[in-house]
Amino acid sequence: METTLRGVGVSHGVAIGEVRHMGTTVLEPPAKQTRAEDASREQGRARQAVEAVAADLNARGQLAGGEAQAVLEAQAMMAQDPELMADIERRVAVGSTAERAAYDAFASYRALLAGAGEYLAGRVADLDDVRNRIVARLLGVPMPGVPDSDEPYVLIARDLAPADTALLDPSLVLGFVTEEGGPTSHSAILARALGVPAVVALAGACELAEGTVVAVDGSTGEVFVEPSGEKRAALTAAAAERKAALAASSGPGATSDGHRVPLLANVGGPGDVAAAVEAGAEGVGLFRTEFLFLDDSAVAPSEDKQVAAYRQVLEAFPEGRVVVRVLDAGADKPLDFLTPADEPNPALGVRGLRSLLDHPDVLRTQLRALARAAEGLPVHLEVMAPMVADRQDAKAFADACRAAGLPAKFGAMVEIPSAALRARSVLKEVEFLSLGTNDLAQYTFAADRQVGAVARWQDPWQPALLDLVASAAEAARAEGKSCGVCGEAAADPLLACVLTGLGVTSLSMGAASIPYVRATLGKYTLAQCERAAAAARATDSAEAARGAAQGVLSGE
Ligand code: PEP
Ligand code: MG
Repeated sequence: METTLRGVGVSHGVAIGEVRHMGTTVLEPPAKQTRAEDASREQGRARQAVEAVAADLNARGQLAGGEAQAVLEAQAMMAQDPELMADIERRVAVGSTAERAAYDAFASYRALLAGAGEYLAGRVADLDDVRNRIVARLLGVPMPGVPDSDEPYVLIARDLAPADTALLDPSLVLGFVTEEGGPTSHSAILARALGVPAVVALAGACELAEGTVVAVDGSTGEVFVEPSGEKRAALTAAAAERKAALAASSGPGATSDGHRVPLLANVGGPGDVAAAVEAGAEGVGLFRTEFLFLDDSAVAPSEDKQVAAYRQVLEAFPEGRVVVRVLDAGADKPLDFLTPADEPNPALGVRGLRSLLDHPDVLRTQLRALARAAEGLPVHLEVMAPMVADRQDAKAFADACRAAGLPAKFGAMVEIPSAALRARSVLKEVEFLSLGTNDLAQYTFAADRQVGAVARWQDPWQPALLDLVASAAEAARAEGKSCGVCGEAAADPLLACVLTGLGVTSLSMGAASIPYVRATLGKYTLAQCERAAAAARATDSAEAARGAAQGVLSGE
């Protein structure tokens, strides 16, 4: 019988297919004793398994490239840690099998890591993955991870590590559903870049039996279990209709009566530029430069390396607008050379602009690199700071940009409610605002964006979040300045219309969402968007706000 489960849709489209689970089972090998004369053979098996797993991780890294490569190579190094191998050999010497020795040695390494501060504790999941691979190899059972299948399937996982996401084959993975993970977690953002329908934070996802047929609607967050023939036909028809509308949409972003709202792309580096250009992005609204720094967390990349990466992105949009965000380290993106290791609550600690103001040399180098990268290019460079709390922060950033002689507009991200509430005062120091609705929701609702259990408050349709957006947009209008949105809210086509109605002047999103937003925005007039925005703000919940906006726009 058909049942409906509801999670949070994070990547548009409909996928219908059989469920396959991500292999995450931790196998606990039996603690049986071996004979003394078997010890050296067991030690050899252990060494071989460790080397094979490290080689496999390195090879997967090479294949994936970019950020995923750094993660996978770090995992290979964990596997090859000499202390760990010595511990395994000691355990084998006193009678353990290779698999049990590896299992136990990882357990004690894990306990060490878990107690060694926030950053290392965050690596425990990576370590568990390495252990699972080694134990599986020794036991001769399939590797945990992406299922082995020649037939396309809907992937179900508790959560997807960025490394797994990077390796998914879009021709086999029709869509995916996770039980955990907030809609704005960085793994969801990376997953969206894959362009397959996806739903996160779906309670009960892991209980779906292997092979069950599901239909995933990545726009509404609904997952239909054993959908009826009619439901399948209706969903497929709706998806085809959406696709046709997309194919018909091109050109710059605008409402049906010609009110222009530039549609820009969020990029993490030069690797994302081709997809942005192909989707018709009118520029870049958020260049997350920290991904360049996360490759090696021990030192900042050299000025020359930064110049080369920035120039590649700037060159892709001649005459276009490119908004570069200076390094946003800390919280879920810690850097060893910048982020304090002992903060009890890193999301509320020294992150974003706060880190840069504590390390003015790092900011100076980045601004100088940007100035050099833009030399001789006709691009409209704009530079903005993450996590600006007040006018004093905005002034400190603008002063640093002026001191670096940067030929750019300077802006502030609005990610902290104080900056939205006092946007006019922030705008005394900078020329534009950009709303980071992911962090703005996190801080408005006191809901960690990494935690699936509080995903409800990460919903950008919350009327309180819409109020803050309106407050910032109204302030910018009063000051004659611009105010864009670059958080994930801009990627929701219906919400994009509401944001336009609230007075937002540009929308920036992952490239895959641009055609959807363009097509939907082009169906309504500015006045309709304004009415939808007012109706959404007049409600008391995200669900009601969405319904109210939908009602206005569909003329109900
Ligand atoms: C945001 O917080 O909305 C944002 C765009 O920045 P990030 O997602 O990189 O924190
Ligand atoms: Mg942010």
